[in-house]
Amino acid sequence: MSITDNIRALKKETDGIGVTLLAVSKTKPNEDILEAYNAGQRLFGENTVQELTEKYEALPKDIEWHLIGHLQTNKVKYIASFISMIESVDSIKLLQEINKHALKHKRVIDCLLQIYIADEETKYGLGFDEAIELLRSEEFAALTNVRIRGLMGIATNTDAERQIKEEYYELKTFFDGVKVSFFRKEDSFNIVSMGMSSDYKLAIEQGSNLVRLGSTIFGSRVIKHWKNN
Ligand SMILES: *Cc1c(COP(=O)(O)O)cnc(C)c1O
Repeated sequence: MSITDNIRALKKETDGIGVTLLAVSKTKPNEDILEAYNAGQRLFGENTVQELTEKYEALPKDIEWHLIGHLQTNKVKYIASFISMIESVDSIKLLQEINKHALKHKRVIDCLLQIYIADEETKYGLGFDEAIELLRSEEFAALTNVRIRGLMGIATNTDAERQIKEEYYELKTFFDGVKVSFFRKEDSFNIVSMGMSSDYKLAIEQGSNLVRLGSTIFGSRVIKHWKNN
């Protein structure tokens, strides 16, 4: 199946049920991204600032870019002018830095809090308690130019469906609690980003409304240590 076929098939699968398709284009060449673009896809995800800025420069400006990989505070400045969502916010420090650069560009940057749900030694993501602490903090209350749109999580890299299901279930349950406690009046807090190529159907069953798909669309990547990055 071509990239075009894959996009069409996935759109058919997700459109009718209120699930947004993020095409994860990391390591893929611009021509592949353009094929997806020409099939109607406008939402793309990258996991490094370097690759993201290069692709942003080269590709059509009506593409919406999500950053899905770990972001160092000193790199926020390179993406602040154009990024449409940062899905990988994992500290108040980072959020403060995003806020600072958003202010400079007179914009509000949409963010997701990345929540650590995997049973793995992955380095990134807030624990449930840490996320609550962040949302309760005065530092967070002072931020004017970031908007938390929801939560993102990466499940354990395993074949054990039941474990993946449980991790996604926990994240969705946590999302519902955070919504009630902190964002009851904010309709914009409405994104549950969970699910990758290997597990997106399970994730949708558990309440995901944004799936991040790379290899299902573009074919497998050259093996590197991608994991959480
Ligand atoms: C690479 C990546 C994906 C997509 O992975 P596939 O298995 O190719 O679908 C999704 N989310 C994150 C955070 C990633 O780094």
